[in-house]
Amino acid sequence: MHTAEVIIIGGGIVGSSIAYHLTASGCKDVLVIERETAQGKGSTGKSMGGVRAQFSTPVNIQMSLYSIPFYASFDDLLGYPAGYRPQGYLFCATDEKHIAYLRTNYQKQIAMGLKDVRLISADEIRGMFPQLRSDDIIGGSFCSTDGFVDPYSAMIGFMTSAADHGAKLWKNTQVTGIIRDTKGIAGVETTRGTVSAGKVVNAAGAWAKSIADMVGVNLPVEPLRRMLVPTEPFDQFPHSAPMIIDMSNGFHFRPEALGFLLAWNDPEETTGYKMDFDPAFVEKILIRAAERVPVFENLAVNPKRAWAGLYEMTPDHHPILGEAPGVPGFFLANGFSGHGVMHAPATGKILADLILTGKSDLIDTSLLTLSRFAEGKTIHETAVL
Ligand SMILES: Cc1cc2nc3c(=O)[nH]c(=O)nc-3n(C[C@H](O)[C@H](O)[C@H](O)COP(=O)(O)OP(=O)(O)OC[C@H]3O[C@@H](n4cnc5c(N)ncnc54)[C@H](O)[C@@H]3O)c2cc1C
Repeated sequence: MHTAEVIIIGGGIVGSSIAYHLTASGCKDVLVIERETAQGKGSTGKSMGGVRAQFSTPVNIQMSLYSIPFYASFDDLLGYPAGYRPQGYLFCATDEKHIAYLRTNYQKQIAMGLKDVRLISADEIRGMFPQLRSDDIIGGSFCSTDGFVDPYSAMIGFMTSAADHGAKLWKNTQVTGIIRDTKGIAGVETTRGTVSAGKVVNAAGAWAKSIADMVGVNLPVEPLRRMLVPTEPFDQFPHSAPMIIDMSNGFHFRPEALGFLLAWNDPEETTGYKMDFDPAFVEKILIRAAERVPVFENLAVNPKRAWAGLYEMTPDHHPILGEAPGVPGFFLANGFSGHGVMHAPATGKILADLILTGKSDLIDTSLLTLSRFAEGKTIHETAVL
């Protein structure tokens, strides 16, 4: 019979960060269970790796205010690389409504303590990136400490550091059931046998709902396909560029290796476990790319290198964190709605605090409980890319 103090279901970046933060707080008897033969085969390995504090709700801004400085010191702190590159996020507004929206967000971000964000003029954007078609750009906002990380590397760093301090990782092992007793959680059933534990964390990403179903908890997390298109090497746009967001249609891109990584969230996409890349997407995104960056007409793309992955969406685009109501010992770290990489450090800290002490000072955790949906206390994030 195997035992652990805490079992984490899912070895993506969220489960790995929770394992790291638990061991860093002195809880060594942690078992991470991952059904795939390798980590990163869920959403983490498909991510664009963007990290930003430019959100519209205070709680998301707070999660970033912990997470981005954490990524900045990750290599020193953990001894493994996260690949943080503070190249910024540049939102380009093409409409007065966008400007008003960015201004409101900017005021919230400054009030929360973000120092590196500023509203910028259309002329400044033109000066920074003359390659952009800017006749309709009327201003924007830029935060220099936003940027990118290498999600796979950060996930491995978290898990390896946790393992250095006592945590275990079982790969190729599926959790098939959760065992309850009169007190709450008693353990899990897996394809490698039963493991007893009084605390179990659901960190199963886009598959979290099926784990919650095992204890009769209804989790409003739905998978939604997102597709990314990497380009072949391209040197007609600077590789020092930030993530650039065209607010007229949501097209965004960032430098990646010798080329660029192109993203656009098709509003016609529907929920479901669709993991296949749709080749028709290439034309849709290249049209939008060349509209905003005329030299992108010269981009070469190999559709075989493009990929699709899953966002894990909640109705209000905020994560669900903390102990599930009515199931003592069953903790949720789910529903990041496309922000799980950038918020993994804060999530790890919050979950470790809640598991070990029952409270966390990092955010007001009552805002992100599962019960907010039943109680009509949702808080909507609109800055979702
Ligand atoms: C195209 C794309 C671009 C994105 N861009 C960004 C971005 O720029 N910035 C950002 O912050 N986020 C981004 N995201 C979102 C981000 O990738 C996710 O929010 C994050 O990876 C979630 O991490 P996770 O550990 O919760 O989930 P996952 O990485 O999916 O890990 C969950 C793990 O649980 C395992 N699992 C599931 N069921 C079981 C079971 N029964 N037993 C055992 N194991 C199980 C799975 O195999 C999986 O490995 C993007 C996502 C996609 C798809």
